[in-house]
Amino acid sequence: SSAAKIILVTGGNKGIGYAIVRNLAINYSNSSPSQPLTILLTARNPTLGQNSTEKLNEELKPKNILVNDGGNVDLKYLRMDLTDEQSIKDAKEIIEKDYGGLDVLINNAGMGNAFDINVVRTTFATNFYGTLNVINNLYPLVRPNGRIVNVSSWLGKSHILSDALKQEFAKEDLDMDGLISLLKRFENAVEKDTYIQEGWPPYGVSKVGVSIMSRILGQRADKEGKNIKVFACDPGWVKTDMADQGAETPVYLALDEDVVPKSQNGTFWKDCKAVEW
Ligand code: NDP
Repeated sequence: SSAAKIILVTGGNKGIGYAIVRNLAINYSNSSPSQPLTILLTARNPTLGQNSTEKLNEELKPKNILVNDGGNVDLKYLRMDLTDEQSIKDAKEIIEKDYGGLDVLINNAGMGNAFDINVVRTTFATNFYGTLNVINNLYPLVRPNGRIVNVSSWLGKSHILSDALKQEFAKEDLDMDGLISLLKRFENAVEKDTYIQEGWPPYGVSKVGVSIMSRILGQRADKEGKNIKVFACDPGWVKTDMADQGAETPVYLALDEDVVPKSQNGTFWKDCKAVEW
């Protein structure tokens, strides 16, 4: 069909998110696709988001990738702040009205963990609750064969936890409420300064949340018979000027037509391969 494929990327104005948008456009265009692709570059700051979208449009113009130049790719800016639910709902309305749905949602926006209780709160509000909020709002728009790709971290894996905590997060029947109460336990332990005795690490717990959230949502999609895949991934250690490397696995998970659709729902990926959490 000629209906466009729609991919949304959060935190697309810079870093890995920007590289994801750029590489999606280039790789998709190189794959001789039969349908056009619209990429929604979202950012919380309209000036930054619009500037990045313009910059990318300028770069891609001579490559004949864009719809206006006879290519298949269209690039649009949309405002979305993970910690501002109204902005997510507004984006949802626009997507519904203008595109009718979403094929891939890439949750890239996030922040590193500096260790201070206030920063832990903001980190959680963005990385975990913000990402969950985006998914809860946009999940109904994701079409059959769709994918949700969550950018976690190498810190979002079990090795950072004590064995006892690892087992709790790994429980097959852990649901979203169970996950949230485990994470609340960490937040409380940080507040009381007992997190070390309780087996928590100072960094990465919000990303453990992102990884496990992906597993729970993947299991749920299977159970409900929804033809949607949810994955978490580690982008690798990336300096700002090497962001293309960090984009590799997320872009693969968004576009691969062979391996990914057959892969187990909810799995954790690194270097374009599913790995043990
Ligand atoms: P950057 O700091 O370069 O970019 C982060 C992006 O997220 C920015 O676009 C930022 O917007 C956006 N963002 C932050 N908070 C919000 C919010 N509340 N709402 C919307 N957007 C928000 O980070 P990276 O590109 O390096 O990281 C991208 C992802 O990869 C993150 O999730 C990060 O945790 C993860 N990651 C990165 C690693 C690395 O080595 N770089 C390693 C492991 C994981 P703004 O410009 O407005 O601040």
